[in-house]
Amino acid sequence: MISEQRYWNPVLETLPREKLLALQLKKFKSIFGWAYENSRFHRSLYDKAGITPSDIREFKDIARVPKVEKSMMRCIQCKDPFPYGDCLCLPLEEVSNFRQTSGTTGQPVYQADSWQDWDWWSECWAFILWAQGYRPTDRVFIPFGYNIFVAFWAGHYAAEKIGCEVVPGGVLDTQARILKIQELKPTAMMGTPTYMLGMAETAKKLGIDPATFGIRRITCAGEPGASVPATKKRMEEAWNAKVFDHAGATEIGAWSYECLDQPGGIHVNEALFLVEIEDIETGAIIDEPGRRGKMVITALDRMAMPCVRFDSKDVIEWDANPCSCGRTFRLIKGGVLGRMDDITKVKGVLLSPVAIEEVVRSMEGLGNEYEVVVDKFGDSDTISLKVELLPGNENNIAQIEAQLKHQLRLKTNLGYTIGFYDLGKLPRYEVKARRFKDLRKGH
Ligand SMILES: [Zn+2]
Repeated sequence: MISEQRYWNPVLETLPREKLLALQLKKFKSIFGWAYENSRFHRSLYDKAGITPSDIREFKDIARVPKVEKSMMRCIQCKDPFPYGDCLCLPLEEVSNFRQTSGTTGQPVYQADSWQDWDWWSECWAFILWAQGYRPTDRVFIPFGYNIFVAFWAGHYAAEKIGCEVVPGGVLDTQARILKIQELKPTAMMGTPTYMLGMAETAKKLGIDPATFGIRRITCAGEPGASVPATKKRMEEAWNAKVFDHAGATEIGAWSYECLDQPGGIHVNEALFLVEIEDIETGAIIDEPGRRGKMVITALDRMAMPCVRFDSKDVIEWDANPCSCGRTFRLIKGGVLGRMDDITKVKGVLLSPVAIEEVVRSMEGLGNEYEVVVDKFGDSDTISLKVELLPGNENNIAQIEAQLKHQLRLKTNLGYTIGFYDLGKLPRYEVKARRFKDLRKGH
């Protein structure tokens, strides 16, 4: 019975490391050659660097291939064919899917996929869902506004592909979605951590306890929350479900997944992606565990707009230990630790906002929402944190504040001004949250 199978692809997911590396090298040569031959943008990049596909003979040669940055993609998209520009490797009539990136800064990047690519997207997601325990007996509810962002589109198709029953919770509002869950009793769900927490809060306001819904597993994406232990714990308690992380991106694909063993990290799907970690200062490739760097990634099978050594700016590190699940795909420790773009200097100290999330959500007496504001007075930076106090904790404010300041100092090396608000007073977000505000540039 396929349902009893532990892995979606038992051969690839347990391939011995040396065979996996040989497969990656073979596939890299092939996708690099494809981009070189068919994309004017890639060809000119490689010609400038003086590198051709025949120069890639062994693994270490891969690092010689120039990286592609998002800003380059924006530049080429003003060229023909509209709107993808000259990195499109197929005739426009073979494009079947349009998506665009959802980042907050700059012009979005438009992403073309052929039907073959779209099939590949759902295959990537099938690895994820199967590893997280989705089986044909599951009824999957997807409370996502199906739109121009890729988000859970491929999760939807993959759930169908593996035989689940899929309920698209598209244009319903949060309350209607909650009532639909209560009525249909789905066993699994997908969403951003922000929305999963927000939905649970709305249910409680309606007098319904989401822990009683019978949802067994939730797959999160879009934000790192499901790999932030305190956020994961809050979601798992609120929904009485296992919560799993997955990291992916429009320009890359669905490259990673947490498995049922919840090892404190995510597997890279190394049969379909090549992940390299680059030292932020020297640019050298980091192969050993425990050293942080930025991710450079190649989607080994994506054809219409190839993703070859894409500089993702995600900060990650390899885990030293293999996973108990038996997969030979390496683990990224603690999931994606942040993005280079989000890491900023405050009072001369490097700050990754995700560290603040872990502190806030591990404090009893505080709600899920928070907001961080960095500003400047005269020559010095200021940083303030707004949090929501849960009802019944009014007499403990001083104690909570002292603990919060102490933990923040320990985890981020910074002193904060704390502002307490009543539950529900801070902004709520439907999809990705914008909790970090840097006002210094306005001065
Ligand atoms: Zn595992």
